[in-house]
Amino acid sequence: MDLEERYLEMLQKLNVGIVIHAPDARVVFSNRRASELLGFTEDELKGRISPEPERHFVDEDGKTLSPPEYPASRVIATGLPVMDQVMGIGQPGEPSIVWVWVNAFPEFDDAGELQQVVVNFHDISRRKRAEQTLQEKATQLEFVLEGADLGFWDWNIETGEVIRNERWATMLGYSQDEIQRTTMQWSDFVHPDDRERAWDSIYAVLEGRSPAHKLEYRMLHKDGGIRWILDQANVMTRDAEGLATRMCGIHADITDRKLLEEALTLQAQIDYLTGVFNRRHFMERAEIELSRATRYGGDLAILMMDIDFFKQINDRYGHKVGDNVLKKLAEVCFVTLRTVDIFGRLGGEEFAILLPQTDRAAAAQVAERLRESIAQAKVPLEGGLPVQFTVSIGVTSISSKDDNIDVLLNIADAALYDAKNSGRNKVCIAAG
Ligand code: GH3
Ligand code: MG
Ligand code: MG
Repeated sequence: MDLEERYLEMLQKLNVGIVIHAPDARVVFSNRRASELLGFTEDELKGRISPEPERHFVDEDGKTLSPPEYPASRVIATGLPVMDQVMGIGQPGEPSIVWVWVNAFPEFDDAGELQQVVVNFHDISRRKRAEQTLQEKATQLEFVLEGADLGFWDWNIETGEVIRNERWATMLGYSQDEIQRTTMQWSDFVHPDDRERAWDSIYAVLEGRSPAHKLEYRMLHKDGGIRWILDQANVMTRDAEGLATRMCGIHADITDRKLLEEALTLQAQIDYLTGVFNRRHFMERAEIELSRATRYGGDLAILMMDIDFFKQINDRYGHKVGDNVLKKLAEVCFVTLRTVDIFGRLGGEEFAILLPQTDRAAAAQVAERLRESIAQAKVPLEGGLPVQFTVSIGVTSISSKDDNIDVLLNIADAALYDAKNSGRNKVCIAAG
């Protein structure tokens, strides 16, 4: 066997399709693998320029190539190699396509004349199909996320690069473009009061202390408002040392639910008629305030207030006017009280006020101011002169032995009783 024969035999054994074209594009040689991939015998191929009409070539978008676009034709036309071209070999009326990766080289003689063009091609159909499946999966995921109205983020921790879908951006009032261009990172969009909490949750997952990141926090909207976001994420990949390298998560806008929850919570805490804390919430807040005062020291005063002759107001003007009197009383008190003061309606026409960081003498002054402004308040009547009313107030404050809110309220109530008995429209201070 001479050298050329040995080379030819080797070419037949290669798992690469090889076709050699003459300078006029006609096939002069093809190996076995080329026959398999193209679906022609070597004899059938010899002398051909185009595989048509039995076969046709398509580009990656599925567009049929014309003979001048074939790799060999391009090499002949330009004298330059064609590298890394992906092409499909199709049969008319058949959907299945054999995908090949093609390289084609010109060979010149010493005078620089084109001698032949060597085309080689590999079957990459399996890889191509895997790519297609992956692409289909990605499209499916897009649909699901879109349908569920979810923002998506994919964080490459090693490079710091973050990919986000369009909904991630529009949830905060931005276009996807704006988000991609910005130098702001995720935590810059998180409400400053929630940032630490949000990072803590992420780090707990990165460091393996927590199985998943699931957190509700506020994000800053472009319109200057806030949006409540439910963020759920997990580590996707870790390196050999166990360090997280990729994390993916989804955002859901839960603003409506949050606002409803807040409204319901407030409703459960507030007396609907007067807008002050109801008895239950007043007691809860009072307990907290009392334990704070006894633990860290500091004054805490308590006022009990009751409308004088309220029954007569109801009897004379009707329940509706009585209600307006209760509202007016709350209004007047809110003007005088500080935001730290805790103001509750304990029942009927009986109110209690907790004054943190206030000693008994200062509390007595507050009570006196309240009594005076209430006595001057007027509740308009539909016909006739406005109604005026007065309150009696009992005042006390904590001393080390009173560590119980009920005891304090009883002491203030006793002082209130004294105020009632000594003529009403009065402030009485508990002794001791
Ligand atoms: P005193 O000066 O001793 O406090 O006499 P008073 O009439 O204010 O006290 P009393 O406890 O006899 O009457 C309280 C009245 O408050 C009786 C009740 O019908 C009325 N009341 C309780 N809750 C409401 C309410 O929500 N709206 C109205 N309009 N009246 C209420
Ligand atoms: Mg009363
Ligand atoms: Mg009463």
